[in-house]
Amino acid sequence: MIRIVGGKIEIRVSRIPRPFPAGVYAVTVWPFIVYEPQVWDDGCVQVHERYHWMDQLRWFVLPWFVVYLILRVVQRTGGKRHLLEKEAYARQAACDAAAAGDGQLAP
Ligand SMILES: [Zn+2]
Repeated sequence: MIRIVGGKIEIRVSRIPRPFPAGVYAVTVWPFIVYEPQVWDDGCVQVHERYHWMDQLRWFVLPWFVVYLILRVVQRTGGKRHLLEKEAYARQAACDAAAAGDGQLAP
């Protein structure tokens, strides 16, 4: 299944292919965003990946991947502690909190 949202070409696949590590359920490689079925309709995962899409565009794509891989080696980390992941995870967490009703004032 394919959808196009604001120029982003989003594709649903049964499994994210190599070379991406196991456990990765969505990936952005501009101009594509690829999702596994369990997160295809997850609005907060979309927020995360669409942030990467815009970030990659700002970096003219290839430099983003080069820096991403260098930082992954230097920082020896991926996921939430990776410098280029922090903002994406922050936006995803804010989305999840809003969806859960957190941050609202009690009546
Ligand atoms: Zn990410």
